[in-house]
Amino acid sequence: MTASSPPYVLVVEDEATIADVQIEHLQAAGLRVEHLSRGDLVEDHVRAFQPDLVVLDVMLPGMDGTDVCRALRRFSQVPIIMVTSRSDERDRLLGFDLGADDYVCKPFSPRELVARVRAALRRRPAGAARSAGSVPAAADELVVLDAASQRVLCRGQALELTPHEYRLLAVMLGQPGRVFSRASLLEQSYDDPTGVFDRAVDSHVKNLRKKFAAIAPGHVFIHSVYGMGYRYEAEAADAQPAPAPRPASQAAKVPIELKARVPAFLASRREGIDEMQRALDDQRRDDLRRTAHRLAGSFALYGFSAAASSCQRLEAMAAEATSEQLRSALARLRTHLDTVDIQYVETEQFQLPE
Ligand code: CA
Repeated sequence: MTASSPPYVLVVEDEATIADVQIEHLQAAGLRVEHLSRGDLVEDHVRAFQPDLVVLDVMLPGMDGTDVCRALRRFSQVPIIMVTSRSDERDRLLGFDLGADDYVCKPFSPRELVARVRAALRRRPAGAARSAGSVPAAADELVVLDAASQRVLCRGQALELTPHEYRLLAVMLGQPGRVFSRASLLEQSYDDPTGVFDRAVDSHVKNLRKKFAAIAPGHVFIHSVYGMGYRYEAEAADAQPAPAPRPASQAAKVPIELKARVPAFLASRREGIDEMQRALDDQRRDDLRRTAHRLAGSFALYGFSAAASSCQRLEAMAAEATSEQLRSALARLRTHLDTVDIQYVETEQFQLPE
């Protein structure tokens, strides 16, 4: 690309409701965008047109996004941002070390995607292809303490901490696995702990857990040690077919910029539910599972988090559950969509740590 031409981004996404939104926002950000909806077309396209960046969905027809990523890395260092539907999927990808540059987990706001794309484009070394050993942006460690800026990053996102929360967490992070009593945490995180009760520690811990859960829901970070206090250790929570986290409110919080698309979106999602119903009737459980996965991702992107959780449950249940259980889950999902309260929200500009 020359200095005057805008960066060229290839979006690979089979779900039209998601692809449209991605394309629109990337174009609005001044980028040139091409779109493919099949994984098996990507390698040829990248060889022929050499995009400056690839936004790559994981579950794709033709070839899985993970295989596409591997295939691209054999000959190209083009920045790749992988888009996953669930945090556990992202964990799996991180474990694979596919060579992706960044990961976006649905739900994300279109602005978050644009911010990450811009950041990845900025990180590109000028000119020639990057060295094969360049460090991926995704942190190797789930939680990183940045003492210089007094921030704690979880999956690259800064936790919004009060000064006391930061200090308390910094103490525990300094010695993972060690059990700290409430008194010692208090002493180390307050300049003057006189008059502060041990219970203050409990309430800081409660808040810290909430903040972690918002970013890394599948993990436990601060463990209670009965009769002693707390210890810090990042651990994946039991990987049971997740009782998906129940959203505090069942209301859908839809990014305001998607408002005009919502009626068409809901109509096509209802068709998706019909598809799942037919798949269930015909005992095509695999099709049911795939459709549930697809719907979970798009519901999440549009802010229908309760519907997204229902679809994740359907996806997890698809193989094992009885037809009756699946039938009633589908009925509940329909009812939910018919009655859900839709709130349109300003999505906050996503801040990338510089
Ligand atoms: Ca997909």
